[in-house]
Amino acid sequence: MARDPGPLQPRAVQALRSHVRGQILLPGDAGYPLARRCWNASIDRSPAGIVRCEDAEDVTRALRIAAEYALPVTVRGGGHNVAGRAVADGALMVDLSRMRAVSVHADSRVAEVQGGALWHDVDVATARSGLATTGGLVSSTGVGGFTLGGGAGWLMRRFGLAIDNLRAASVVLADGRFVRASTDERPDLFWGLRGGGGGLGVVTGFEFALHPLRQVYAGVVVRPAEEAALVLRAFRDFTADAPDDFCGLLVLTHAPPLPFLDAAWHGRPVVITALCWSGEPSQAEAALAPLRRVGAPIADHVGPMPYVQWQHLQDMGAPAGRYHYWKTVSYRSLPDSAVDVLTDAARSLPTSLSEIHVQHLGGAVARAPAEETSFAQRDAGIFVNLIGVTQWPEEYPSMRERMRGLNEGLSRGALSRLLPNFTDDDDGRVPDQLGPERAERLQALRRRYDPDGRFVSV
Ligand SMILES: Cc1cc2nc3c(=O)[nH]c(=O)nc-3n(C[C@H](O)[C@H](O)[C@H](O)COP(=O)(O)OP(=O)(O)OC[C@H]3O[C@@H](n4cnc5c(N)ncnc54)[C@H](O)[C@@H]3O)c2cc1C
Repeated sequence: MARDPGPLQPRAVQALRSHVRGQILLPGDAGYPLARRCWNASIDRSPAGIVRCEDAEDVTRALRIAAEYALPVTVRGGGHNVAGRAVADGALMVDLSRMRAVSVHADSRVAEVQGGALWHDVDVATARSGLATTGGLVSSTGVGGFTLGGGAGWLMRRFGLAIDNLRAASVVLADGRFVRASTDERPDLFWGLRGGGGGLGVVTGFEFALHPLRQVYAGVVVRPAEEAALVLRAFRDFTADAPDDFCGLLVLTHAPPLPFLDAAWHGRPVVITALCWSGEPSQAEAALAPLRRVGAPIADHVGPMPYVQWQHLQDMGAPAGRYHYWKTVSYRSLPDSAVDVLTDAARSLPTSLSEIHVQHLGGAVARAPAEETSFAQRDAGIFVNLIGVTQWPEEYPSMRERMRGLNEGLSRGALSRLLPNFTDDDDGRVPDQLGPERAERLQALRRRYDPDGRFVSV
C-alpha cells in the first residue's frame, strides 16, 4: 500500500500553477496514479506533487519554488530505475517526460538530447543520418538515468560508455541556476555527472558524440540450459581478448516464443548468447564463429540488420508493470565458483520470467582513464545481473530471497564496487556503491551544488 503523502502547501501549489507552463498533478488528480508509477511495479511511492516540465525554464521555475517552500525534489527521466530513484513519498517530482526532443548535427556528429528522452528517441533520430552512439539494450530506457549511471550498451566496447560520449550537459542546479558542465566548464560537476548516479542537478540537455554506423551483424544463438557451463566458459575465454567491434551477452532464461525456435523448446530453460558485431561486416562471420559453434545450438539466428532494428528487438521482453528485484555483481574475470552457481541457477531460475545476464566490459570502456569520471568499474571484465521478475506480487518475497541467495553465492572473487544502473533499493545510496574515494568526492559535490539537500538522496 502507498503511504499518504504530506500535502503540498496551497501557496506552493498556487506558485507552481502560476509560474510553470507544464502540467501539475496532485494526489486525487486523474493523471496522478499513472504518473507516479515507475517501470518496476514494486515501487509504490506517492509524491506530494508532480511537475511535468515543458522545457529548461520550467525546470528552473519548479526548482526555485521548491527552494522557496523547502520541498524535497526527485527527478524522473525514463522512470526505468529498478530502485525507483525517480520517486519518493512526499517529494515534488520533476517529471521530464515531455522533454524528449533530439537534434542531430550530422556535420559535427553531435546529438543534443533533452533530459527526458528515451533511447528510442535518440536511436531513431541519429539513424536518419547513419550515425549512432552507445545507448541502452532496451530502447524505452531513459537517457537521463542511464547516462548518469555510466551507460553500458552494445557499442560501448568500440565507442565507450554513454558517459565517454558525453561532451557537455546543461544543468539546472538546486537553486534554479542554469549552468553548463563539460571538461572546460565546471569540470568537477561534469566528473560527478559521469557515473555518480545523479542528485547534483536536473540535466535538461545532454550532448553526445555520434559515430557512423548503419548496420550491425547481430542475433542470438540458443542452447539448452544443460550447456550453460560450456557456454559460460566459452564466453569467458572469448571475451578475454575479444575485438572491440564485438559485444556479447549471455541470458539464462526460459525460452521465449521466438518464431525461429522450435515450439517444443518454448518455456524450457535455455541459455541465449546475444551477439553484436559493429565492425566491418565482411569480418563478422569469422569473428563470431568460435562462439557460435560451441555445443549443440537449438537455434542460430544471426545476420546483418540495421543497428536501430537491433536496438528495438529486446523491447518486447521488458514491458513496464512487472514486479522486479535486481542484483548486480562484477568481476575482473568470471571465477569458476561463479560458473558453478550460474550453471545450477540456469536450470532452476526463481520464477518463469526471471533471467540472469552475463555481460562483458573491456575495450574502449577499460581504456578510458579511470580518474576522469565517477564511473567505478573501468577494471571490471564481466558483470552478472540477476533480474528477478514476476507478474504476481505474492511471488515477489520468495523471488527476492532466491535472488539474494544467488547474489551471496556469486560474491566470491567479486569486486566490492557495484554498477549503479543495476542496483536495487537495498543496495544503499549510489555514491556508497562506488568505493570510499568516489563517495567522498560526490558528497563534497553535493554539498557544493545542493547545499540544502534539495534532491532526495539517490
Ligand atoms: C529494461 C531495462 C533495461 C536496461 N538496460 C540497461 C543497459 O543496457 N545498460 C545500462 O547501463 N543500464 C540499463 N538499465 C538500467 C538503467 O540505465 C537505469 O535503470 C537508469 O537509472 C534508468 O534511467 P531512467 O532515466 O529511465 O530512470 P529514472 O528512474 O527516471 O531515473 C533514474 C535516476 O536518474 C535520475 N535522473 C534521470 N534523468 C535525469 C536527468 N535528466 N537529470 C537528473 N537526474 C536524472 C533520477 O532522478 C533517478 O535518480 C536498464 C533498465 C531497464 C529497466
